Amino acid sequence: MTMDPILSAALEAVQSAASVCRRIQHRLVTEDTLLKKDRSPVTVADFASQAVLCRKLAASVPDIPVLGEEDTLALERPENRLLLDKIGVFLQEWSAGDILDAIRRGNAQPEGTFFTVDPIDGTKGFLRGDQYAVALALVEDRRVVLGVLGCPNLPASASDEAGTLAFARKGQGAFQRSMSGGPALPIRVSSVGPEGPVRFLESVESGHAHHGMQERVRKAITDHQEAVRIDSQVKYAVLARGDAEVYLRLPSPKTPDYREKIWDHAAGSLIVQEAGGIVSDMNGKPLHFGCGRLLADNAGVVATNGGLHSRVIESVRKAARE
Ligand code: AMP
Ligand code: MG
Repeated sequence: MTMDPILSAALEAVQSAASVCRRIQHRLVTEDTLLKKDRSPVTVADFASQAVLCRKLAASVPDIPVLGEEDTLALERPENRLLLDKIGVFLQEWSAGDILDAIRRGNAQPEGTFFTVDPIDGTKGFLRGDQYAVALALVEDRRVVLGVLGCPNLPASASDEAGTLAFARKGQGAFQRSMSGGPALPIRVSSVGPEGPVRFLESVESGHAHHGMQERVRKAITDHQEAVRIDSQVKYAVLARGDAEVYLRLPSPKTPDYREKIWDHAAGSLIVQEAGGIVSDMNGKPLHFGCGRLLADNAGVVATNGGLHSRVIESVRKAARE
């Protein structure tokens, strides 16, 4: 594939942000924070990650605005000065003003051409010491045309240390490379058919998906192993490289009308599609990235290796009627 300047800039930005997140997870997520359910490590990482992403993108592709999940409202309050200082510990040589300015750059509107950023997708996974992702996508004319996922705790292969960048440019296929360097290699979804074994992925958090209904769908398709639970868009990266066949995200019964955020799916869905898979909502409708910050026209998400898609959607329909 041709490494155009925007893709190079996006990869560098995500690699830097993911490295900062990894340092923060190592230093701040401890048994103690786990026990106390202390969310402060992820708050520090969220802001630091968005600051790094925005500053890198501002330097290399200044004309493209950024829509990030975080804003600076809380961070500007005097009582949060300590939090700003904690972020500064991981961004040496940045002033408090630099940090705020960079995060503020992520306040674009979801219109025209823009980057959308989830500085830490899977905050609960980050706090458990599990999987999370730094997600960056470029939306052009309501379509996702570039996606990068930084997955600091996912090894690129069994022989690699943890840390993978998965990425795609529309029409040019999907790739991954280790965060510690090496070549970018093409990735493809698996060709496993209905005769199986079909491997399912779902969220760890029961509040983010309907685990019960997903189990019914899975059983209608396979008697193979239980669904593997992984936090964040790492699920899309795992599906795209052929390590699973189906990712179900049916609306949780606790929040049946939940609408997904664009930054939670833009990068991952493009990577799966460019790897040969199909991504739709639970009714089989394509995800529509032209409705603002939310996937307002869609309910839930179903991603598959392509060959299994219609069968899975049919099973979802049946499970929803039951
Ligand atoms: P996951 O780790 O795949 O469960 O997804 C994490 C994402 O779930 C977060 O980035 C949130 O934006 C999103 N989320 C929060 N609440 C809900 C909900 N009720 N239903 C679905 N997703 C949610
Ligand atoms: Mg997220």
